[in-house]
Amino acid sequence: MNKIFAIFGDPVSHSRSPLMHNCVFKNLNYPASYIRVHLKDGTKLKETFFSLGLSGANITIPHKEEAFKACDEVRGFANNVGVVNTIINENGKLIGYNTDADGFMFSIKEFGDIKKILILGAGGTAKALACRFTQDNIDITVLNRSQNRLNYFKEIAHKCYTWDNFKCEKYDLVVNTTSAGLKDENLPAPKIIIEKILNNTNFVADAIYGKLTPFLKLANEKNITYKDGADMLLGQGILANELFVKSELKTDDIKKFMVKSFEL
Ligand code: NDP
Repeated sequence: MNKIFAIFGDPVSHSRSPLMHNCVFKNLNYPASYIRVHLKDGTKLKETFFSLGLSGANITIPHKEEAFKACDEVRGFANNVGVVNTIINENGKLIGYNTDADGFMFSIKEFGDIKKILILGAGGTAKALACRFTQDNIDITVLNRSQNRLNYFKEIAHKCYTWDNFKCEKYDLVVNTTSAGLKDENLPAPKIIIEKILNNTNFVADAIYGKLTPFLKLANEKNITYKDGADMLLGQGILANELFVKSELKTDDIKKFMVKSFEL
């Protein structure tokens, strides 16, 4: 019987995950398909997952923390962060994983040695990246629009700021993990702050993919080397697909067809 996988999010129409996973399944003759589910209420994740008869799923904004709560068991790095982006149906139980952080590490390899990072945003992606960076002894600062979500970072970050009290230092890399610029033309913070940040960093990355965000446009104007979220997407997608197919496909083959899906 064909397995069905899905991506849950709100919004979800922008997601390239269906294209990536379906390209792997189709070309490797794996009996599965991957659909998109627009889920408004994150607390309905578990019941929707089972009502659709899914074998596994990815979770995108804004439900990754809700996905962690919905799991019967959480494995590996996701436990450190309380954020889940991949769930697997194991005999009727939901098993949660996080593949975003390793996907991001894969994507910044080309920047070389990174010791100090400014993270813009304090949501699920920011948490995952912050925990992963600190594992590699990278010094992190977090800047978020509002105070509430910053509490999580107090123990692990060098400094935490809102827009009101931000003090800029020098950074090797600044990464935008906010959803500003995804469906709008907003910068992740007021322009005066972003200008200052861009004048004090070597590299810039955005988790958003498929468009040049206003943040990346500004980085480009300042001739700063930047990258969007496409490689992160690729990295997390390969790791998620490996979990979906449980070693039935070779990683090199998964990678080959995921890369190919970017040409579609
Ligand atoms: P969350 O909803 O968990 O967090 C969103 C964060 O963005 C919060 O810190 C929020 O601040 C901030 N924010 C939202 N709107 C604005 C705005 N207009 N100005 C400034 N800050 C804002 O989202 P996720 O962490 O799950 O995802 C964040 C982004 O990363 C999304 O765009 C997503 O598509 C992308 N992503 C890409 C991946 C890839 O593979 N390339 C993988 C994972 C995510 P506040 O706390 O004040 O509300």
